[in-house]
Amino acid sequence: MKQIKLPFCKTCIKTGVLCGVCEQKIESGKYSTTDLIVCKEILNFFGKETGINNLSFEKSIEKNGLLVLIFGKGSLGDFFSHGGFKLIKKLEKTLNRKIRVLEYSKDENEMIRELLPIPIINFNTVYYPGDFVVLTIKIDKRDFNKIKKEKEVYEDLIKEITGVSYVELSP
Ligand SMILES: [Zn+2]
Repeated sequence: MKQIKLPFCKTCIKTGVLCGVCEQKIESGKYSTTDLIVCKEILNFFGKETGINNLSFEKSIEKNGLLVLIFGKGSLGDFFSHGGFKLIKKLEKTLNRKIRVLEYSKDENEMIRELLPIPIINFNTVYYPGDFVVLTIKIDKRDFNKIKKEKEVYEDLIKEITGVSYVELSP
């Protein structure tokens, strides 16, 4: 069995007592304490599973009670075939959050397509002076109405994924 790849040492995850390197990862803001909890649950859940070849957890992002877990490229096959749905349910209870899972991709647009529960017409990025980048994501009007309530949550999540200055979902 190959190792499950996580952003913290296994000993640190298991004991909850962090070494300097892991502590720095949280203090720098690169990872959160939620990431640490997620890692612990992943280890508990999949640690004894055999037949896992490719499972890595990158990090989570969170907005308004929606927690998005970003897994490494190609991880979700093993994740779901080994009962990942149950882990999601468990995490939703433990963390009292709605959870979505995504696979990391170098192509950010692909991640956005995965994240949004509706089709996207196109992406438009405009660069302004002073490194201000605006990403407009065009959506069909009917689809837009379906996510109107969560519009800002999705915009915030996409901002975090892409690192742009401003995101607008637009009908
Ligand atoms: Zn450590």
